[in-house]
Amino acid sequence: MDTEVVVAGAGPTGLVAALELARRGIGVRLLDAAPAPFAGSRGKGLQPRSLELLDVVGGVTDRLVALGRTHLPVRRYGPDGVVDEPAQGRAPTPDTPWPSTLLLPQWRVEQVLRERLAVCGVAPEQGVRVEDVATADDGVTVATSEGTLRARYLVGADGGGSTVRRTLGVPFLGETREEMRMVVADVELEGLDREHWHQWGSPSGAPYSWVALCPLPATSTWQLQAGPLDDREPDDPVIAGIVAARGPRVRLRSVAWRSVWRLNVRMVADYRVGPVFLAGDAAHVHSPAGAQGMNTGIGDAMNLGWKLAAVLRGADAGLLDTYTAERLPIAAGVLGISAELSGGAMWARTAAQVRTTSQLDLSYRDGPLGASDDGPGPRPGDRAPDAPVGDSTLFLRRREADWTVLAASAADVEGATVVLAGDEAIATYALAPGEVVAVRPDGYVGRRGTADEVRAWLAPLTAQRGTVRAA
Ligand SMILES: Cc1cc2nc3c(=O)[nH]c(=O)nc-3n(C[C@H](O)[C@H](O)[C@H](O)COP(=O)(O)OP(=O)(O)OC[C@H]3O[C@@H](n4cnc5c(N)ncnc54)[C@H](O)[C@@H]3O)c2cc1C
Repeated sequence: MDTEVVVAGAGPTGLVAALELARRGIGVRLLDAAPAPFAGSRGKGLQPRSLELLDVVGGVTDRLVALGRTHLPVRRYGPDGVVDEPAQGRAPTPDTPWPSTLLLPQWRVEQVLRERLAVCGVAPEQGVRVEDVATADDGVTVATSEGTLRARYLVGADGGGSTVRRTLGVPFLGETREEMRMVVADVELEGLDREHWHQWGSPSGAPYSWVALCPLPATSTWQLQAGPLDDREPDDPVIAGIVAARGPRVRLRSVAWRSVWRLNVRMVADYRVGPVFLAGDAAHVHSPAGAQGMNTGIGDAMNLGWKLAAVLRGADAGLLDTYTAERLPIAAGVLGISAELSGGAMWARTAAQVRTTSQLDLSYRDGPLGASDDGPGPRPGDRAPDAPVGDSTLFLRRREADWTVLAASAADVEGATVVLAGDEAIATYALAPGEVVAVRPDGYVGRRGTADEVRAWLAPLTAQRGTVRAA
């Protein structure tokens, strides 16, 4: 074997997958066909749950929060005048430290992830294209533009046009709507204030009757989204015209990146082919409404990373079957909510839809690691909320840990870091006397029960050889 895991694609999904493996000391090669990291904004919303997931990798969420912003109000320009809408977002609580969507360009998210990955000694290999994949009982052979690699596992995080998925003949079920196209661009301009997300809409259906300009935090650029397209190529002069039509003093300075986006709503029926796992856009694509794509890819990678690492270090290989079982229903739900929010409904989201898109309520309760018990507090498969513990918090204590066990009194659970719960954590988790809660490495409740019960349940799932390496 040349390495333990090859990850194809260094977008947000592949970067998080590689990080989850590398920080556990797993040998990983991260290959990306592009000569350099992607420079466009694309996904510009990190959802609350993604911030929680990434916080376990100490420093990442703090850095992202420092570079992004929440609570950006919308200024809407319509036929009847200008309306300022209050910013969406909530105040932090002890169990949800990041309750609001964080606005920042996707390239910045990737940059922060690359920096953190470098600390683990891994750099994406740019300009290395995966061209073919052959699976075998003991691993996978990956033919690349730079030669052949053998590995135990391959993660196909190579985006919507995934070569890994195509090579393995995995159908990408769904539809492409060529008529649903918009231009997306990162631009510099003058004449608009950066304290609003400016949106223009008219029901005429005329070319470019829908335009949004969002200031990208910690940059001097804006993300332009505009549609519907007409027959013209949306080149720089067309973009200059769209911008200039916003007002007499509004003027385009430059275009840093532009692209035409088409609506694709597709997903695979299985995320796994033997030693190969699909993740992120390679497994599911949908409308950007609701800001779910990058976030769902991050969720896939967090779910898969610890499982691959555990199995490579001796845990029960059946753990890998839980990946599709847990993540496929999530993608199906995401395709539903993003379709619901397409076509302008995004800007009139109900409180329930805002909550859904935050991904805070995603649960694996009905999956193979969940449990159908209806007691109080978060149940197996549910998100594990934060809670104060001593002079710290559960989230802080989980940083760089693998499994965490929350207990009201001293307990010994092999393979897990035991955290002593105070009154607030006992209340948040509704811990009964003598009960402990095992929290999975990806921040979901694993099991509740006595320390003996949890210890027995955990044994086949925890790494038997080697330990988590805090990089
Ligand atoms: C306009 C727009 C707005 C969006 N807004 C949001 C948002 O607000 N929030 C959100 O969550 N999502 C949003 N998205 C979606 C988000 O951009 C994608 O879901 C996200 O990029 C998926 O990440 P990924 O890592 O799975 O794939 P990608 O980002 O596509 O990365 C795939 C990587 O694989 C590489 N690659 C491709 N083929 C090969 C190969 N054969 N070998 C090796 N490498 C290869 C590529 O170079 C690329 O770097 C938006 C998208 C668009 C277009």
